Amino acid sequence: MNSEFDLIILGGGPGGYNAAERAAHAGLKTLVIEKEDLGGVCLNRGCIPTKTLLASAKHFHIAKDSADFGVVAPNVSLDWSRAFKRKVKTVRALRSGVAAKLKKNKVTVIEGEARFIDRSTVEVNGERFSTAKILIATGSKPSIPPIPGADSPSVLTSREILDIDHVPESLVVIGGGVIGLEFASLFSTLGSRVTVVEMLPEIVPSLDSDVAALLRGRLEKDVAFKLGARVEKIDGTTVSYSDSEGPGTVGAEVILMSVGRRPVVEGMGLEDIGLDVSPKGVAVDEKMRTNLPGVWAAGDCTGKSLLAHSAYRMGEVAVADMLGKDDRMRYNAIPSVVYSLPEAAGVGITEAEAVKAGREVVIKKLPMQYSGRYLAEFGQEPGFGKVIIDAKTQALLGVHLVGGTCSEIIWGAAALIEAEFRVDDVRELIFPHPTVSEIIRETIWEF
Ligand code: NAD
Repeated sequence: MNSEFDLIILGGGPGGYNAAERAAHAGLKTLVIEKEDLGGVCLNRGCIPTKTLLASAKHFHIAKDSADFGVVAPNVSLDWSRAFKRKVKTVRALRSGVAAKLKKNKVTVIEGEARFIDRSTVEVNGERFSTAKILIATGSKPSIPPIPGADSPSVLTSREILDIDHVPESLVVIGGGVIGLEFASLFSTLGSRVTVVEMLPEIVPSLDSDVAALLRGRLEKDVAFKLGARVEKIDGTTVSYSDSEGPGTVGAEVILMSVGRRPVVEGMGLEDIGLDVSPKGVAVDEKMRTNLPGVWAAGDCTGKSLLAHSAYRMGEVAVADMLGKDDRMRYNAIPSVVYSLPEAAGVGITEAEAVKAGREVVIKKLPMQYSGRYLAEFGQEPGFGKVIIDAKTQALLGVHLVGGTCSEIIWGAAALIEAEFRVDDVRELIFPHPTVSEIIRETIWEF
């Protein structure tokens, strides 16, 4: 193999494989080095397998609870092994798709663990490769807090729980963030007894408190929440915590640890080549350049916006910079989604951020039932749309939705914020009717 490349990418996840495709398409001779599976955590052990299993949970729920819709299906049961097989098949299909795309673009892929020799040479499987440009896209892994007993065999991370061979009878989720809520939703819908133990006074601290409270209210039907509860130790299958009422315990067959993720930056010799890196990630500027010329970083390993869609974009910005194109990473309109059942989705500034920054804003909120389509499909299930505008300029600053499958419409709000639309601009747009997206249009007319 010719060991000279224009670009070497460490990591074949969303940050890496997408950048490889863009770079190779533009004519750069590109090598991707991946130590596990192409597609990274998102495709193999995160976004895709969870969405596939959540689809099974949704079907199960609909089959069981649709009498109001005139559909009565007695004796509905779940076959976990089939749901599991479907997950494996979906992941495999997408992974083959990524490999095929890279092959079509003539990207070389090597399986192995890369290590820097110097800033333009990496070694993998005992072989050295040199290059003018390097992109570090090594992702993140679950954080394990120093709680006594956290290494108990019944404590799983999001990685191991995706391989579980049955629906656990009971589950304790430590950390009521995005990952915790997805799994709480999944397993509670499938019949597990689920308790979420969250250290802060409310779940998903990145959401506005009204969005988080509504989401929690919806989930409380099937999930118990211990809020403001600090986990003190884990003894086998029992979690000890303390909250405002004093010490307490909760036991379960399985414990999920979902208290955050941390950048993967160790074991590659990053410090040895003089890279500006800390446990918080590789330091990058808005062009995804590191402190070393010829070395860029993208995705979770930067510690900024740990989301697959942010990683894609960061990789593209890095490649644009390598090609001499003017582009920069912007963080003001990155959609965020909680894929629980129901979903919450938001983009732009939250109400709490506006207050903290002392910004003068006007906020309007409408129940989801203002959308005819929502009413037809979800009836009186609570949900709302909330829009935040700048009081002076009338520019759209934030859109936050909770209810149904609102993840599918939030990109539209992101486009409006990115394009700096004002209230009057949005009013002139035609939204398809009847769709849930009309909640944004309805709320805009409240200003
Ligand atoms: P998170 O940061 O979203 O949530 C972690 C939660 O754990 C927080 O609410 C925090 O207060 C709580 N916590 C921390 N220590 C605790 C303790 N000792 N006891 C009880 N609670 C504790 O982290 P996550 O859910 O693990 O997700 C990790 C990363 O992966 C996030 O950065 C997220 O953006 C990304 N991710 C995103 C999605 C999505 O967007 N849908 C899905 C999966 C992962």
